[in-house]
Amino acid sequence: MSTTYTVKCVRCGGTGVYDGMTAAGRGGECFGCNGTGRKTVTRYTAEEKATLRARKLRFDRALELVQRRSKALAATAGSVDLEDAAFYGFLALRDGEPDRFLKMLDALDAGRLDDVIHCLAKYRRS
Ligand SMILES: [Zn+2]
Repeated sequence: MSTTYTVKCVRCGGTGVYDGMTAAGRGGECFGCNGTGRKTVTRYTAEEKATLRARKLRFDRALELVQRRSKALAATAGSVDLEDAAFYGFLALRDGEPDRFLKMLDALDAGRLDDVIHCLAKYRRS
């Protein structure tokens, strides 16, 4: 299981105040820790890291597939915004409804690419 712990912010040495030069001049509230002087770190086990990597890989492949196909569909169907709508629908579904997002990935694996693209575009436009 992942473990979360708190460490002293290295940017400000735990004071919450950064005293080096910034674009705004010298010093001020530390941006590294929002002035708290502490940061939260999460450590993952090797198994969790592998799961996260696999999830990222699946996400990247699905997005690439959707983008490539929606571009082609947009060109032939004369629906110029299909590519953008599918792309932003993809991201909106991931952020808004993670459970449905996984079902969408399953549908992609099942080869329902065109259906998925049109649903994503509709999702984006709704
Ligand atoms: Zn700090």
